Amino acid sequence: MRNVCQFYNAEVEQKIQKEKELLFWFDTAIQNQELQIYLQPQVPFNKTKMIQAEALVRWYKPEGGMIYPNDFIPLLEKNNRIDHLDMYVFEQVCKIIVSWIANKRPIIEVSVNISGEHLKHKGVNIWKEYCKIKEKYQIPDGVLKLELTENTMFELPELSAVREIINGFHSCGLKVALDDFGFAYSSLILLKEFDIDILKLDRAFFIDENKKSKKIVSNMIRLAHELDVMVVAEGIEEQAQVKELNGMKCDYIQGYIYSEPIPVTDFEEWVTNYHHL
Ligand code: C2E
Ligand code: CA
Ligand code: CA
Repeated sequence: MRNVCQFYNAEVEQKIQKEKELLFWFDTAIQNQELQIYLQPQVPFNKTKMIQAEALVRWYKPEGGMIYPNDFIPLLEKNNRIDHLDMYVFEQVCKIIVSWIANKRPIIEVSVNISGEHLKHKGVNIWKEYCKIKEKYQIPDGVLKLELTENTMFELPELSAVREIINGFHSCGLKVALDDFGFAYSSLILLKEFDIDILKLDRAFFIDENKKSKKIVSNMIRLAHELDVMVVAEGIEEQAQVKELNGMKCDYIQGYIYSEPIPVTDFEEWVTNYHHL
């Protein structure tokens, strides 16, 4: 028994040490340009529409290799550093769009994640900070989207505060996506209470699919369209799923079937090939 405890303690200590190191490194990671923006394409059902993308952060440590978001985002959330990361990613995405405009490339709509912890820290005025950056880079309206999860929306005690934030984003030309819908409670009340522009159906709907899950998905898409909400299906890995989602008129598909998240230059090439530009 004692040995099991000792082993357990050593493991816990190792984990704490690793977390301390990551936090210490994070403080210089931004200065050292170790954080990179990867883009994952979202492919439209209607082929005349442009590709869109989600920005996903990657931390590349020269001596440690790639660190994936799930290995450092929860840690940043726990240690009050997530606001810094979210704002950095948003500003980097603005710079990417500025470079597309300057190089006369097609402007792709990009969505950026906001952590629930970030929203909780900043409260109702969070949208002003995003607007300021969007205006600083003169990003046209409707190009940038912010992804909030259901849990994020319940981080604030009052639904009215979330409504104020969403209205604030809209007032400065930023769209709002409800991310990971289907992963948690999938509360339909959110669609009633808030003017959400995009509904992202979580991968949970598409793992171990059955007749029921397919009916839920097709009816969710129908409902979203009736409410003027665009739908993105996430985590799609198989061609048969693409065919079915196309049959259901799902607006966009995001998943490994088309591409993993890739560095910006690879993404630009991917878009050029896709649209035969
Ligand atoms: P998410 O927002 O739900 O992003 C989708 C995740 O699913 C990404 O993982 C993506 O690589 C992965 N994915 C996409 N297609 C497929 C597929 O076909 N199959 C499977 N199995 N997975 C797929 P990633 O990049 O590791 O990001 C994980 C999570 O980390 C994200 O989940 C998001 O919650 C968070 N995250 C990433 N970047 C940021 C950021 O800049 N700020 C914040 N706050 N969170 C971020
Ligand atoms: Ca997301
Ligand atoms: Ca998601």
